[in-house]
Amino acid sequence: MNGSITPQAFRDTLSHYPSGVTVMATAVDGLLHGMTASSFTSLSLDPLRILVCVAHRTGLHALVLRSRTFALTFLTEDQEAASRWFASPQRAGGAAQFRDHPWRPAPVTGSPVLVDGSAFVDCRLADVHRQGDHSIFVGAVVALGELTGHDRPPLIHYRRDYRQLRAAEAAT
Ligand SMILES: Cc1cc2nc3c(=O)[nH]c(=O)nc-3n(C[C@H](O)[C@H](O)[C@H](O)COP(=O)(O)OP(=O)(O)OC[C@H]3O[C@@H](n4cnc5c(N)ncnc54)[C@H](O)[C@@H]3O)c2cc1C
Repeated sequence: MNGSITPQAFRDTLSHYPSGVTVMATAVDGLLHGMTASSFTSLSLDPLRILVCVAHRTGLHALVLRSRTFALTFLTEDQEAASRWFASPQRAGGAAQFRDHPWRPAPVTGSPVLVDGSAFVDCRLADVHRQGDHSIFVGAVVALGELTGHDRPPLIHYRRDYRQLRAAEAAT
């Protein structure tokens, strides 16, 4: 335990913190775009607020600043392929991204929601806090609910790999 601070040590240390996985998506001027994001957190009950941290270099960052709206789908353990796809720089742009991932427009903002997820939150962009190479996007929740995968276990990202609940327990 030497406590030294380097970017690699930061990554290694934070990899010990498990997270769920979402696909964050928006629609702007007829363009649909989604991105895998695990930095989602519930922020406030009154008013209802969530946050997600998005790298400045991502396409999604620029698009959400234009649309001022986004939705998050919480992924189930059956959706590892969706997580990998929406994190891949090789994926198709626009609506073609969603060809193999059935989606519907979120009720209020029309942002894409993956119907096989466990649940979704639909948000208007309430605030943006730039910090280093990411921005904290604060979402005002305007709709939410369960999806067809609501009784499936969540997809978990832990120590740079995808885990299922039982596998995550065994790995500790
Ligand atoms: C488990 C996991 C969790 C992650 N969590 C986060 C997180 O919390 N926050 C985070 O920032 N990253 C996170 N990432 C990384 C992120 O998912 C990837 O970096 C992702 O590829 C970024 O997508 P992008 O929007 O930059 O699109 P790109 O990968 O740059 O592009 C994909 C496609 O979209 C098109 N496109 C991109 N931008 C535009 C645009 N403006 N207009 C039209 N078309 C466009 C491109 O031409 C390309 O065809 C995570 C990755 C994983 C695996």
